[in-house]
Amino acid sequence: MKCDLVVVGAGPAGSMAAKTAADEGLDVVLLEKRQEIGDPVRCAEGVGKVALAEMVKPDPSWISAEVRGARIYAPDGTPFVMTEDRAGSEVGYVLERKVFDRMLAMKAAEAGARVMVKTRALGLLEENGVPTGIIALHIGEKIEIEAPLIIGADGIESKVGRWAGIDTVLKPQDIEVGVQFLVQDGKIDGEYCEFFLGNEIAPGGYVWAFPKGKNLANLGIGIQGSRSDPGMSLRLLQRFLKEHMPQAKILEMMVGGVPVSGPIESTTSNGVMLVGDAARQSDPITGGGIINAMRAGVMAGEVAAELVQQGDLSREALKIYEDRWRDTIGKQIARNYSAKELFVTLTDSDLNGLVHSLEGEDVANLELKDLLKLLARQNPKLLWKLRHLRR
Ligand SMILES: Cc1cc2nc3c(=O)[nH]c(=O)nc-3n(C[C@H](O)[C@H](O)[C@H](O)COP(=O)(O)OP(=O)(O)OC[C@H]3O[C@@H](n4cnc5c(N)ncnc54)[C@H](O)[C@@H]3O)c2cc1C
Repeated sequence: MKCDLVVVGAGPAGSMAAKTAADEGLDVVLLEKRQEIGDPVRCAEGVGKVALAEMVKPDPSWISAEVRGARIYAPDGTPFVMTEDRAGSEVGYVLERKVFDRMLAMKAAEAGARVMVKTRALGLLEENGVPTGIIALHIGEKIEIEAPLIIGADGIESKVGRWAGIDTVLKPQDIEVGVQFLVQDGKIDGEYCEFFLGNEIAPGGYVWAFPKGKNLANLGIGIQGSRSDPGMSLRLLQRFLKEHMPQAKILEMMVGGVPVSGPIESTTSNGVMLVGDAARQSDPITGGGIINAMRAGVMAGEVAAELVQQGDLSREALKIYEDRWRDTIGKQIARNYSAKELFVTLTDSDLNGLVHSLEGEDVANLELKDLLKLLARQNPKLLWKLRHLRR
């Protein structure tokens, strides 16, 4: 097979990249190793409404629930509330990703991309050290797909980056180790995405409960890789469930990791671009990565169309993509990485103090960065640590 662009991975990043490039006239092949796009789900499925609507028109077929905001609990149980438009890229809709991811791949197909499921990329085809395509296993058969450009959208375990010599190695402290149950319980608050903080609850991370309607919720935990031991996230989540939702029934379970490393040094090499989790573009504070993956996918698809037509796919030429994402989503990722670095050092008493310091303040309408500034003002000892978060 021959084409202009091979995209490896049909998650949000890969499908958006394939759709964008195909819309611009490229002959695109989109590979997905699973037999069903979007399944199994490894996500809490929360996304911000405004950011999502900038890229796709919301549709009830892939929205499980719409929430009013986030309710965040200090370790001692004190809550504070943020409205959905201020609460970051994970709060607004709770998706049905099995349907959502398939819908994005369908849009890529409608734009003209050839979608190949049950097709696992195995390595790069190369000539004189320059990638010239992908070797893949397609329903048990080895195939070669020649293309001058490859987009690696193959998620947290990305191999495309490694094959292309891009350093994507994550340190244990820069991975959130996650476990999630789909639970059914009559007591689920359908109006808010809830976040539970505390070193006893989730060291260096948090527990979340994202409602999905019909008394269902994604109840999950993410803990910092460097503070985790085998089975720890599962044990902590089971304990949380017992204490907070003793009647809940578990209908599904999944495990997965989230990169929270902040921007990595390079996401390109000759003939290769990385996008989404493969490029470590998720939000280091929340671990949310859907929106950034989609945005980066669009940017990579646009750059692919420009450069394939010009015929220059060298690393130097692909710098346009590096610059575009670093100047946009990259700035927020870098700022939130600094905030995460601070967050993971806080004790439970610090966290309780921070939440109590907001009592009497109108925080519901503050954006995350303004909330961080307010916290810094109210907690002068933290001010010096937070000063580098200011623009
Ligand atoms: C527990 C958990 C909870 C999360 N909750 C949220 C949340 O609430 N909100 C949010 O925004 N984000 C959340 N995330 C993060 C979010 O799921 C990711 O950031 C997002 O899916 C990244 O999209 P992507 O397209 O880069 O990668 P993925 O969605 O991981 O897609 C990668 C695709 O590549 C395919 N693939 C991999 N290797 C190959 C190969 N060799 N050949 C062919 N195909 C391949 C995979 O099968 C997969 O379909 C969560 C993650 C976890 C683990």
